[in-house]
Amino acid sequence: MPLDPSRTVSELRELADLTGDANGAQRVAWTSTWAKAKDWLGTTLEGLPLAYEVDAAGNEWWTLRGDSDRAVLLGGHIDSVPNGGWLDGCLNVLAAVEVLRRLAEGGTPPLSVRLVNWADEEGARFGRSLFGSSAAAGSMADQDELRQLRDADGVALPDALREHGVELDRALEARSQLEGAVAYLELHIEQGPVLESLGLPLGAVLGTFGVERHRITWRGQAAHAGSTPMDQRRDALAGAAKLALELREIAARVGDGAVLTSGGVTCRPGIVTSVVETAEQLLDMRHLDAAKLASMWDQVRDACERFAAEERLEVEHERIWQIEPILFDETLIGFADEANREAAGTSHRLPSGPLHDAAEVARAGVPTVMLFVQSLRGLSHTKLEDTKPEHLELAVRALDALASKTLAWASSR
Ligand SMILES: [Zn+2]
Repeated sequence: MPLDPSRTVSELRELADLTGDANGAQRVAWTSTWAKAKDWLGTTLEGLPLAYEVDAAGNEWWTLRGDSDRAVLLGGHIDSVPNGGWLDGCLNVLAAVEVLRRLAEGGTPPLSVRLVNWADEEGARFGRSLFGSSAAAGSMADQDELRQLRDADGVALPDALREHGVELDRALEARSQLEGAVAYLELHIEQGPVLESLGLPLGAVLGTFGVERHRITWRGQAAHAGSTPMDQRRDALAGAAKLALELREIAARVGDGAVLTSGGVTCRPGIVTSVVETAEQLLDMRHLDAAKLASMWDQVRDACERFAAEERLEVEHERIWQIEPILFDETLIGFADEANREAAGTSHRLPSGPLHDAAEVARAGVPTVMLFVQSLRGLSHTKLEDTKPEHLELAVRALDALASKTLAWASSR
């Protein structure tokens, strides 16, 4: 079967009709709609010479056996957020289905090629993202916390998983699936505005941003809004406000895609007649370069000291969460660029702000790369999520070219 990218677009529409409603996609993992989507996926692969298995974490694997057991992996996730879009996750899977069809037609490939549908990438029901891929990567270390998680209706996570044949205590057995993996390839919508603003359909992804999250607490003195002259105030909000604006300067100094966000400030006493005594400020910082991310934090801390002195405040900070940058494979990034150029005439290298299953696989030591296709208006996780059909078709062609290059490279090693 020759590659038919328009079939991928039709299949995406079919899946949207089957598992979405007026509010968007409803394929939340560990629900009956997710199970329906998986059944449908199984039927689209019927008739191909593939071996099927479900691993201990609920990930589905279809293997086109090659001359060698070493394998190139193509991945995605068919689960969505509630009221999600028609492309996030399932484009990856269905584009890989089309590549598998083309490869199966060509006889036995030099290496095995495996399609994986990761279980619960989004974490929409229980708040734990990358469930299946972190189990396969061996980085899942929070079983005790997972056991306690409940959904909005009070259903415990282990019970919901059991309904879909997955025992939480055995999930890490999925690790054996990455044995023999020589490369992992994933296509995804960008979910941001960069490619559209450059007028480019496709990008090669360099890796996923490292993230640092901190809570910064500014302390001043509550005082009457009428009787306290401006020059005698110790206004905690002034520290937070100065820092919120300083973040722009830090981002500009560090450059290379640095983003810093003051996502919330909670003021106390929080009444109209008082100067703010305490301002609790949330900070999220991201960069692809670990040294630059560290420098961003240094600059934030220096700014905090400076503004605390200027405003006669006390300031404290506390780290809430962090993850290191995860870099994709240089050779595969080169192939991704070539594949994009062959499909669309151009390519653009960019980092990913969001995390993806690919980050877990890369963390496990498997050479990894992702392709991004332009997202219209940068929107995702909403029914407004969209990409032009012609760009989706280019993306399928690019993934196919990337798979061919990767197979040729890996089989010569
Ligand atoms: Zn996704």
